[in-house]
Amino acid sequence: MPLPRAILFDLDDTLIRAYAQPEDAWRRLLHIFAAHLDAHDAASIEQVRLAIMEEARAFWSEAAAAAKWRLDIPGARRLSVRRGLARLGRPDDALADRIADAFTEMRRQEYRLYPDAHTTVDALRAAGVKLALVTNGAGATQREKIERFDLGHRFDHIQIEGEFGQGKPELAVYRHALERLGVAASDAWMVGDNYEWEVVAPQKLGLCGIWYDPFDAGLPAHATAKPTRVIRRLGELVE
Ligand SMILES: [Mg+2]
Repeated sequence: MPLPRAILFDLDDTLIRAYAQPEDAWRRLLHIFAAHLDAHDAASIEQVRLAIMEEARAFWSEAAAAAKWRLDIPGARRLSVRRGLARLGRPDDALADRIADAFTEMRRQEYRLYPDAHTTVDALRAAGVKLALVTNGAGATQREKIERFDLGHRFDHIQIEGEFGQGKPELAVYRHALERLGVAASDAWMVGDNYEWEVVAPQKLGLCGIWYDPFDAGLPAHATAKPTRVIRRLGELVE
């Protein structure tokens, strides 16, 4: 597939590993709080994990709430853990907040740049492709990641939900990024791990939706739109 004039990249779980595979992260974190939770074996910890993750899933599946809380992920986590403990019949907001904050810190420490992120982005830029970073989330949180992983100077345009005022999958988000790059939708790709945000929405505008699926999860069962291409590694973009 010949390279386009411009590529819009997602940040979280595309260039950096940030929030993927939360099951394992929760298990490890809840082990640390086992005594406080009165959960003395793997099965009791699993029960708490399931309650928290079930509440988080319900929480994030509501579009309006999700758009609001994307700008305050630590706050969203506190709410999910509070609800999870309440669901188990032992509400304790103070403990819930400590657990949620520890999870936020653990995740932050474990952010990792995907090994081929810099080389792929730099090769695309060297080939003359204009690049934008288009990410949802709060300005300060996302800027910290961009700085920590030395991404800022690699892009012609950086657009963060909390600063721009709108997030994916609002079509205005992709339109604005294209406008800033001076490239038509038909000459651009959107690359990222979120099927709705990086395939369905951009394809409505005429961009190619390149779906990044590093864990080989496969398309969602309800998928109607077909990604232009599926990649398992970022490096595939320049091979
Ligand atoms: Mg993502």
